[in-house]
Amino acid sequence: MAAEVARELRASFAAGRTRPVEWRAAQLRALVKMIEEKEGDISAALHADLAKPHMESYLHEISLAKASCTFALKGMKSWTKPEKVPAAITTFPSTAQIVSEPLGVVLVISAWNYPFCKSMIHCSIDPVIGAIAAGNAVVLKPSEIAPATSSLFAKLLPEYVDNSCIKVVEGGVEETTALLEQKWDKIFYTGSGTVARVVMAAAAKHLTPVALELGGKCPVIVDSNVDLHVAIKRIAVGKWGCNNGQACIAPDYIITTKAFAPELVDSLKRVIERFYGEDPLQSADLSRIVNSKHFNRLTSLVEDKKVADKIVYGGQTDEKQLKIAPTVLLDVPLDTALMTAEIFGPYLPIITVEKIEESIDFINSKTKPLAAYLFTKNKKLQDDFVANVPAGGMLVNDVALHLANPHLPFGGVGESGMGSYHGKFSFDCFSHKKAVLIRGFGGEATARYPPYTTEKQKI
Ligand code: NAD
Repeated sequence: MAAEVARELRASFAAGRTRPVEWRAAQLRALVKMIEEKEGDISAALHADLAKPHMESYLHEISLAKASCTFALKGMKSWTKPEKVPAAITTFPSTAQIVSEPLGVVLVISAWNYPFCKSMIHCSIDPVIGAIAAGNAVVLKPSEIAPATSSLFAKLLPEYVDNSCIKVVEGGVEETTALLEQKWDKIFYTGSGTVARVVMAAAAKHLTPVALELGGKCPVIVDSNVDLHVAIKRIAVGKWGCNNGQACIAPDYIITTKAFAPELVDSLKRVIERFYGEDPLQSADLSRIVNSKHFNRLTSLVEDKKVADKIVYGGQTDEKQLKIAPTVLLDVPLDTALMTAEIFGPYLPIITVEKIEESIDFINSKTKPLAAYLFTKNKKLQDDFVANVPAGGMLVNDVALHLANPHLPFGGVGESGMGSYHGKFSFDCFSHKKAVLIRGFGGEATARYPPYTTEKQKI
């Protein structure tokens, strides 16, 4: 099956089907049509997989996927044009240009947490949009952990786009392993660092380039010099309003000062209660945990008494509904799993420092995060944060929204990934930048040619 898919896509690419800009535009327009006509089905699938509220699906997946297509449709004509660059004196007379060439046949393996778009997260459709805009044939392997969305992709895409060049292969480890055995011209993988290593090893066999969109612990520094109510609303919606914390750029933990922590905790309690009511487990606005394996993984993070004792708000769970309430913890020991592994769920630990400036060193003592956030009105602290915290991306005075700007690249660094996409960066991610130099027959320099006589060497 995997070999057959790869063969068919390669034949379509070799026949030049995906190259014309008109073909690319037609596929992107078809995707927009699919999103518009099937919005209800998409939202229902996301609800089936994650009990995701419709508004969240619309804001974070449906509208962003559409915006991504529209952005690519608008930009593609200029992105595909050869970019003229200055000619060098050493090559005079000549013209030079950079031609964006499709890579060929690409594989997109996606994660389950934002199965449709990416908004937040770019998992499935967004890289496919980039691959199409750049003129590639593409196969999408959605995550088996979001089965309703995965099968919706498998059903809908062939109804709307050119199935000889754009395919969906469903499945889990076995099917992905079979796909990874094929030769691809790029593999775009979203998921965990552990599986990324498997992907990279498979890619190395064929010398295939990879883009790896991974996760990690995204820190949020909260200074006392802030509009606290606005800051907490933004943190809360970025944590629990994004799949109930199951998002790669959701705030993972907060760092604040010891002195400011009580006020911050009070504000968090008030905001959570306003958003999700007194019994968040019954709130239709809170997504559930994706499956019982992840539910058990999450609840085990707080089983240890030295962690459980640190819960200052929330902590309720409902195994039947797979729901966990927004939960805030204060001063969790740093050697516990909650503070060493990516949480990817509704727990929000707060750690404290004496002076807020110390938080930068704390973040830098860990692996480079996918996103880092800071809330402060202090310009110097903002500048220090931007200059001294290495991260995939960062945001001052908000969380997660940086990925909604298609003019910014989205991607990780170090353990949080490699390569970036969104907007034109997606196009570039799936293009080869071919250097083209065109010379005339004039401008001959005799020194260039042997014999290298003493006379010539004097020049
Ligand atoms: P995962 O790595 O378990 O699975 C991702 C994909 O890999 C799935 O399609 C799955 O079928 C496949 N897969 C799983 N095991 C495999 C194996 N042994 N061999 C080959 N393929 C295999 O990740 P996940 O649980 O779906 O996603 C969660 C992780 O993804 C988190 O760390 C999160 O932060 C990260 N994430 C990152 C981004 C981003 O844009 N950077 C977006 C979403 C999620």
